[in-house]
Amino acid sequence: MGSESDRQPVPENPRQYVCPSCRLHLLSWTSHTNTVEMFHKVALWSDFWTGDVRLICQYCLGATEILPTVLVDLLRQRYGFHIPTPTPSPPGPRRS
Ligand SMILES: [Zn+2]
Repeated sequence: MGSESDRQPVPENPRQYVCPSCRLHLLSWTSHTNTVEMFHKVALWSDFWTGDVRLICQYCLGATEILPTVLVDLLRQRYGFHIPTPTPSPPGPRRS
């Protein structure tokens, strides 16, 4: 019979990000409260061509799936993450 719980598939919340290589639990994100919990040291990585941002596990340097823009913004604001620019810059002689 019809129940009230079969209207929409509720997205997994909080969303868990796990390193695909070493299975470390890196981060959890509750989208409706904008809460991010970090469990391990991570870095952000942006794909060269697409600019898609992923998490990099600092333990084994494994990359997670692509992060939603909302989460990327949140990480930047709250944790001051620096996202490397996806445009390749030739290695200059020195920063002046
Ligand atoms: Zn890892």
